[in-house]
Amino acid sequence: MESVGWEGSGAGLSAEEMAIAFRRLREHMPGRTLTAKGPKDQPDPFRSMVSCLLSAQSRDINTAAAAKALFARAATPQAMLALSEETIAATIKPCGLYNTKARNIRKLCDVLVHQLGGRVPETREGLMQIPGIGRKCADIVLSFSFDRPIIAVDTHVHRVANRLGLTNAKTADETADQLAGHAPEWAQRDGHFWLIQFGKAVCVARRPKCGGCFLSDLCRFYAARRSLP
Ligand code: SF4
Repeated sequence: MESVGWEGSGAGLSAEEMAIAFRRLREHMPGRTLTAKGPKDQPDPFRSMVSCLLSAQSRDINTAAAAKALFARAATPQAMLALSEETIAATIKPCGLYNTKARNIRKLCDVLVHQLGGRVPETREGLMQIPGIGRKCADIVLSFSFDRPIIAVDTHVHRVANRLGLTNAKTADETADQLAGHAPEWAQRDGHFWLIQFGKAVCVARRPKCGGCFLSDLCRFYAARRSLP
């Protein structure tokens, strides 16, 4: 079973330690690039939002295939609404939960077209009023499509932040709030990219590569594990 928190009663990283951790992450991990296009390579806010919705409980490769097939059929909310729920479900089948996701995509498009003039809101509150869009997807759209300095928190970022001791949170939304409040300002824009790459390459879910980790001297999870009898 994957461990998320550092499982100890000690404090998380101090502000100074946090700055050191982010500086090392910046040195070792790729940040935002000029070609960053949002989830599954979908650049505009509408596609970014729908791609995030498709990604729930789906592997990256399957989400990308579903998104590509769907946007080949309909690239705007108006065009999407012209498709039946059944057609959308059949098109996005690779990403799983396709009936529920198809229903939510139509609801999302309905609100966009009939209540928001076809425009994707540029605030978190506005985005989260759209059916199917929670904090994670709202932050991803704000970060990728509107270039806001926000550390969007997915499963990788949540795991890494809480193991390392950057945060001490039970949910991804709490992690997002704590990173927004405590991570250095200069780390907010690219922090998502550094943490997600680190979570995929080093601090992986089941067997984190602690032996060769450049953050092990700071890591609360590592310290807690080493102190076990
Ligand atoms: S030492 Fe590194 S790889 Fe191991 S849990 Fe801590 S951050 Fe993750």
